[in-house]
Amino acid sequence: MSNQSRIRLEHVTKRWDAATAVDDISFDVAPGQFVILLGPSGCGKSTTLRMIAGLEEASSGRIHIGERDVTRLPPGDRGLSMVFQSYALFPHLSVADNIVFGLRSRKVPKAEQRERLTKVAELVDLTDYLDRKPAKLSGGQRQRVALARSIISEHPICLMDEPLSNLDARLRSDMRREIKALQSRLNMTVIYVTHDQVEAMSMGDRVILMQHGRIVQDGSPDELYNRPASTFAASFIGSPAMNLLPLVAGETGAVIEGEPTAPVAPFEAVGGQLGIRPEDIELRSASAPGVPARVLSEEYLGADTIAYVAVGSHSLRVRLSGKQTLSGQSCSLTWAAENTHLFDIDGLRRDDMPPGVIASAYRSVPRPPAVGSFQH
Ligand code: ADP
Ligand code: MG
Repeated sequence: MSNQSRIRLEHVTKRWDAATAVDDISFDVAPGQFVILLGPSGCGKSTTLRMIAGLEEASSGRIHIGERDVTRLPPGDRGLSMVFQSYALFPHLSVADNIVFGLRSRKVPKAEQRERLTKVAELVDLTDYLDRKPAKLSGGQRQRVALARSIISEHPICLMDEPLSNLDARLRSDMRREIKALQSRLNMTVIYVTHDQVEAMSMGDRVILMQHGRIVQDGSPDELYNRPASTFAASFIGSPAMNLLPLVAGETGAVIEGEPTAPVAPFEAVGGQLGIRPEDIELRSASAPGVPARVLSEEYLGADTIAYVAVGSHSLRVRLSGKQTLSGQSCSLTWAAENTHLFDIDGLRRDDMPPGVIASAYRSVPRPPAVGSFQH
């Protein structure tokens, strides 16, 4: 594919007076990639996107689109389109006029406008609504108008800033798939801003996670889920969030605070934190080997149950399938070595020790009966 839609940021920073909204960010987006800028509110996602679009000027650093340095170019010369959360539709114009608005101001011939409109309206399923005013449309249809307006421009790059956050959950999930399908069909390069980790995980080829104006992690959804770079990344991706437990010194290794009998990591991990995802924990009968625990309460979610379990002086979440009622019962927790995450005292991932050495010891014993048919 042509390099025309490659986007490259080099040490880009944005300061507003004393405050630094975006702090020395670099990344390189390949043509046709679907990249997510993910992070909590205020972390600098929109500012980053707006600098790429040319709606804000970078305080320092360079932005390249294709072979061109666009750092000081006005938005109209950057060859991209943008979709906002607010949709920014003109209320007094019909759907058709809203969609072709950009073409009209670029003086594209009438016949060509009509031809492109027909094609795009079909693509986003708006053919029967072209004469309506935005007020007479549902949220999802308005979102499609905004998308159509961006697609009809035929720019190979589309920047989207939380385009689905005004929609209800059901519609959001439909639109996620539609946008993803459109992007791959039209081979667009997309940078998509969201604070929603589900959107990030389900749509992105690549997720750039931000915190306080900086990039915390840049990788595939799989990498962010399986190898979070920090406790922040670990708790931002996944629902319910990863359990994070402070590690103290026990007799034969690092233990969870308040539970001195069960080593869960090597001594070198003391002072840091142990991370385990709720879906990676197995709950067994109290007599089975593992970390002694007690079920405090549970939350039934339909397909699964989240059990809140006390271990030492901490409580953690365990995801169990189906409906489970275990409150008040003693149990034993285990997890596979490869699902153990260790973080240092600064919250950064540690890959320098084999966390499995101790945790995997639990694995070598025969599996007791599964939870649900608890034996006492
Ligand atoms: P996000 O999109 O991740 O929620 P933003 O990029 O909108 O975050 O904002 C990042 C930071 O920059 C925030 O602290 C915000 O208050 C600040 N900011 C954004 N726009 C402006 C502006 N025009 N003037 C001053 N500060 C701003
Ligand atoms: Mg924003």
